[in-house]
Amino acid sequence: MAGMIKVDPEFQSLILPLADIEFKQLEEKILRDGCGDPLILWKGKDILVDGHDRYLICQEHKLCYKTLEREFSSKEEVVDWIVDNQLGRGNLTDSQVAYLRGKRCNFEKISGDRDGKSNRKIIGLKLKHAKLAEEFGVSPETIKKDGQFAKAVDAIERDIGPEFSRKILAEEFKLPKSDVLRLANKPINEKERIVEILKANESKRLADIEKEISVPIPNKHASMFNRTNDNIEWARWTWNPVVGCKHGCPYCYARDIANRFYGNFEPAFKPERLLAPKFTPMPSGASEDIGLKTVFVCSMADLFGDWVPQEWIDAVLESARNSPKWNFLFLTKNPKRLIDIDWPKNAWVGTTVDVQRRVKAAEEAFRQIDATVRFISCEPLQEKVEFDSMKIFDWIIVGGRSRCANLPEFQPKWEWVESILNQAREYGLKVYFKPNLTVRPREYPKDR
Ligand code: SF4
Repeated sequence: MAGMIKVDPEFQSLILPLADIEFKQLEEKILRDGCGDPLILWKGKDILVDGHDRYLICQEHKLCYKTLEREFSSKEEVVDWIVDNQLGRGNLTDSQVAYLRGKRCNFEKISGDRDGKSNRKIIGLKLKHAKLAEEFGVSPETIKKDGQFAKAVDAIERDIGPEFSRKILAEEFKLPKSDVLRLANKPINEKERIVEILKANESKRLADIEKEISVPIPNKHASMFNRTNDNIEWARWTWNPVVGCKHGCPYCYARDIANRFYGNFEPAFKPERLLAPKFTPMPSGASEDIGLKTVFVCSMADLFGDWVPQEWIDAVLESARNSPKWNFLFLTKNPKRLIDIDWPKNAWVGTTVDVQRRVKAAEEAFRQIDATVRFISCEPLQEKVEFDSMKIFDWIIVGGRSRCANLPEFQPKWEWVESILNQAREYGLKVYFKPNLTVRPREYPKDR
């Protein structure tokens, strides 16, 4: 078994994800027979090149695995190898094949572009398309379109999430490639509405959906909230005026997204997003469905991390205070920093308690916090947690662990969830089980 294996998000993006059922089958096979095939590593760099799913499963279940190192002279050579390997998987849809060819095209360097002259760039692009066309036995025009298609799928994944882009590539929707390109170029809020309709009716055509909806955009440059995409009924929006985080949680999906699409997860302030509460139209139905007016603040950061300058926090709170029609949900792993804040009435203030050692800090801080709603988020619940008292809280959320680059999905034990439920009931908290919490009691009567 190798030492520290590194997962490169760019390489990982070239691995076509398994459907959940396929992943489960692979997991069962490895648990039964062990991990036979070696993981392929880039020699001398310990970067994983092939075997990402097997690696996740072995990590999760603490199983042994073999590794095989291969020589590569450059990143481009690794990309070529991964794409060829994926194309050899068989049973791929046309969209998956086009996506992989397109990724090769987008990674491939353009020769003759050193001086940046545009005519040389065009010649370089044509040469690149011709070279790949010959290799794959298609026309240069096809390669060019594949490159555009791969960029469009990546843009949709960045805005909507991996589950939806996986379905596009698996051709579970009636979306020809031209429609995928059109969808990718739409403003994010329009994209999200279209995806919601498609999820409810997979055979619907884009042109028909476009006729159904018309999204008012107050200003082309105005920032707006993003719609959440994974059935988070309690907060249908996210708002990220601050991004990046230094807590280093191994299960962090925000870091995966940031590394893949922005190249880093360093904390940064995005002041242009402070106007989003003003520019986002309140959806109809918000008076009946509280989730429609609730915004998860900084889903891609910890706004209250010790490293965050106070001015960033003040600016975000001010913007929230000035938009009383919305509820703003603030969540941190650093609850002591919530204490001295004069919370606006429309703030829901919470802290994550995923393991027992966070309980004491949470209780100490929340005894001193005055907010309209005070909540605990036990997501992902990683072990049994017991509070001295929950009476200082109003609400508790419990969730499982979703799949990320470093770890597979994980369900807490039912006894841990039951214990939280009992504690919450004792103190009259409202309880919310997230859709990714699927564990349930599995008891049997005594056998005769
Ligand atoms: S606190 Fe949240 S954003 Fe920060 S590393 Fe942990 S999971 Fe990621």
